[in-house]
Amino acid sequence: MGAAEGTLLRVRDLSVEFDSQEGTVHAVDRVSFDVAPGELVGLVGESGCGKSVTVRSMMRIVQSPGRIADGRILVFFDEGDKSKGIDLLERSEAFMTSIRGDRISMIFQEASTSLNPVLSIGEQVGESFYFHRRAEMLGETIEELGREIASSRFFPAASWKRFQRALFSMELASHRAYDAEILAIDNELLRIEDREDPEAAHRRELLNRRRDRLHERNGLVELLRRLPFLSCYRRRLQRTIRARVVELLRELGVPNPEHIAACYPHELSGGMQQRIVIAIALACHPLLLIADEPTSNLDVTIQAQIVELIKALRSKIISSVLYITHDLGLVAEICERASIMYAGDVVETAKVREIFRDPLHPYTRGLLRSVPTAERVQELATIPGTVPNLIKPPTGCRFHPRCPSAMEICPRSKPPTIERSPGHYVACWLYPETKR
Ligand code: SF4
Repeated sequence: MGAAEGTLLRVRDLSVEFDSQEGTVHAVDRVSFDVAPGELVGLVGESGCGKSVTVRSMMRIVQSPGRIADGRILVFFDEGDKSKGIDLLERSEAFMTSIRGDRISMIFQEASTSLNPVLSIGEQVGESFYFHRRAEMLGETIEELGREIASSRFFPAASWKRFQRALFSMELASHRAYDAEILAIDNELLRIEDREDPEAAHRRELLNRRRDRLHERNGLVELLRRLPFLSCYRRRLQRTIRARVVELLRELGVPNPEHIAACYPHELSGGMQQRIVIAIALACHPLLLIADEPTSNLDVTIQAQIVELIKALRSKIISSVLYITHDLGLVAEICERASIMYAGDVVETAKVREIFRDPLHPYTRGLLRSVPTAERVQELATIPGTVPNLIKPPTGCRFHPRCPSAMEICPRSKPPTIERSPGHYVACWLYPETKR
């Protein structure tokens, strides 16, 4: 809630649960927030409060035994009609595969475990171009072959290039036909997105199933790929992709990008691995970048470099950033708005300046009192008690066992989220007057 101008992402009443032997873990409980185009929003809270599970739900990568129990995750991608949201929880897995790493990307916490140890950096970054920008890569390869054919004087070499160009042109035609079919399905789904009648629901189900079953097939290309002698023609495409990877690494300030593209993850430092993970996430210029504590395992100087990089890239490459962190200092430095999470709930959302100047929720106040500052000379304050067990979370307001301002109503009933002042939302019974 509370995105400044327009909306790119709208999460409403999202609940995520995990089944365990002891019972169901209610990890995320009716969480709501918005991200506007071009905005950098922080999702803040201590470890185990549900931040990572919330953002993994947006990519639909919550691992079993976790499941999204309820809610809506709307994204507003459509250039023609920005008011029309796509509910990611209602779309097919094939649709999600097509937007992951393209329109929505994620930087994971541990760079070393995010990278594949048996693939070179060039191959791993290049996968994004191959899967999401294939038409562009094929087009560039065809153009380059055309230029080489025009300047070639050696007949066998020119013939081989003509043959390669013909194969790539066929692949491009079949890829475009596949893309057109996908686009037709997605457009029809978007047209009936808001309809709730049974006919529309049935049609949505059919279209989602069709999208899942649709695969790109080109018999001749498949056959040629399997023939050892002829399959080498695809190296031309790899060369185009490699050039794009090197260009991207250079843009991200990676020194000696040609060499780095040929390296394997174990040959790189932690900071460089994190830059590569960022490069993979940014390869297709996502509309929304989710950064899940991207600097938590790095030393402070590398942390500062990575944060500076994300800030610098925002205006050039990324539209919006959802930055997950437990570090309030970082939030103050880079975010415009922030949502504070406690035990699976969003308890306060406001502009960062407002949160630091006038925190409303007792948990936010506690967090701010525990941050060391140059002026604060006395002992840092702590929030009494511990984070609750989410198998049996406290009733009503989940913060009530630790809250110094708890009232009689707090354990009985969950407080609604209200807009206390323009753009400043809080869920606490201390502020009962204005309903959302
Ligand atoms: Fe404290 Fe009650 Fe507000 Fe929860 S609702 S934060 S227990 S005052």
